Amino acid sequence: MKRRIFLKSIPASLLASSYWTTACQAENGINPADKTVIVIGAGISGLAAAQKLQEAGFKVSILEAQDKVGGRVRTNRSLAIPFDEGASWIHGIDGNPITTLAQEAGMTTFQTLDESMKSYDIGGITRKTSTYDSAEDEFYTVLGSMMKKGSDSQSFEQVFNQLYPEKKNDRLWKFFLSTYLTFDTGDLNTLSSTLYNEGEVFEGVEKIATNGYDTVATYLAKNLSVSFNQRVSAIDYSGATVNITHNNTVTPADFVIVTVPLGVLKNNKIVFTPSLPSAKQTAIQKIGMNCVNKFLLTWETAFWDDVQYISYTPELRDKFNYFVNVKKFQPTTNALMTFAYADYGWQTETMTDPQVTSEIMGHLRDIYGSSIPNPTRLLRTRWSTNENSFGAYSYTAVGTEMRHFEDLAEEIDNKLFFGGEHTEVDYFSTAHGAYLSGIREADKIIALL
Ligand SMILES: Cc1cc2nc3c(=O)[nH]c(=O)nc-3n(C[C@H](O)[C@H](O)[C@H](O)COP(=O)(O)OP(=O)(O)OC[C@H]3O[C@@H](n4cnc5c(N)ncnc54)[C@H](O)[C@@H]3O)c2cc1C
Repeated sequence: MKRRIFLKSIPASLLASSYWTTACQAENGINPADKTVIVIGAGISGLAAAQKLQEAGFKVSILEAQDKVGGRVRTNRSLAIPFDEGASWIHGIDGNPITTLAQEAGMTTFQTLDESMKSYDIGGITRKTSTYDSAEDEFYTVLGSMMKKGSDSQSFEQVFNQLYPEKKNDRLWKFFLSTYLTFDTGDLNTLSSTLYNEGEVFEGVEKIATNGYDTVATYLAKNLSVSFNQRVSAIDYSGATVNITHNNTVTPADFVIVTVPLGVLKNNKIVFTPSLPSAKQTAIQKIGMNCVNKFLLTWETAFWDDVQYISYTPELRDKFNYFVNVKKFQPTTNALMTFAYADYGWQTETMTDPQVTSEIMGHLRDIYGSSIPNPTRLLRTRWSTNENSFGAYSYTAVGTEMRHFEDLAEEIDNKLFFGGEHTEVDYFSTAHGAYLSGIREADKIIALL
């Protein structure tokens, strides 16, 4: 589904200026080949930074805790079709740097259309398109009008429930709140009532990867030196060089770019000496890290509607409430992909596969009848208990200020730099935000020469 379609502005400033510095000139007479850069994390942000710096002549290496590149761009290839456990979509292809990158990398895509959708209510009752569409229009009007009605200390849910008490138990409204808002941001209980709509979007259609989003990560990693299974536990930037402790080894570098997810920073998995500046610590604490989990199920035969999306409006807001018909872009496999967010997303992480399957099948059987078979396979994620991310992506929780994203991006002493989706004030929470943050930090280092 399209993210943040109630926002339409694009910051022209982003696509100009320093983001796109390409050539490196050693104006200060420093030879980049004499400078070592270590990038921590081989997600899209770390890979983008490393590639740009290597092109500029620096000696770059990456320390990655896992045994593969990509981070939250992660494709499970254990079935006949690739299952993207993290990023799936290029959100708005016009001007989006991932569009070009995907083309260069050979990532194939399929255009998804929100209109290709059938909506069901409890009891398998088909909802009329006109009912859905008019409620959707009203929903976007409400989202647009709520921006100035809350206060910094109130959550979106508090304000919404006060203003629209008649909507809070309406199943279709719960569906909109969940799939159009919580999915993009975070739990409505903790989502800021004043900043829920922050962040920019690229225009253009939505495209979903069909041969695996990791194609982009693999492409970026080509020719880069990545040391796998290297978990960084400490960073000492008190001296002239930055000393990084990983797997009981200490490696020095002239410049270090930290791109580990916000969840890793929130959980204090890296000890910084000296401690990080208080503004950065506050930002780490205030910005939220949400929970989104994905589930792919396969069957011998397809029993569902021949549309791209099947929506279902259960009582529990964030529970398996829409299904992506994967067969539309992977015609040889009968598969559906569904989601769980926020509290319910957390809950699924402690559920067994049979429990998860039973809950999902409860929804599908309500729509398609009790005789539909159980799936042949289930693939799933547990992003919030994953020690490499501790969550899916960042969002504006109550207490967040937009400057907090900038505080996270602030370099220290021109030797310790910070990238990652959570450092991108305009495009946080996305793969393109991660990419742009990596380029931004590389440009800062290049500019020091
Ligand atoms: C379920 C889900 C769905 C999403 N859907 C979309 C989508 O459709 N479209 C979109 O644009 N975006 C989507 N996103 C967001 C997108 O995937 C991320 O914003 C982006 O991939 C983050 O990249 P990054 O480089 O900032 O972080 P990461 O990709 O997380 O990279 C950080 C790296 O640091 C490593 N690391 C962690 N701790 C350590 C340590 N101590 N030492 C060394 N290495 C460490 C990690 O293993 C990881 O490889 C989704 C994310 C999730 C989870």
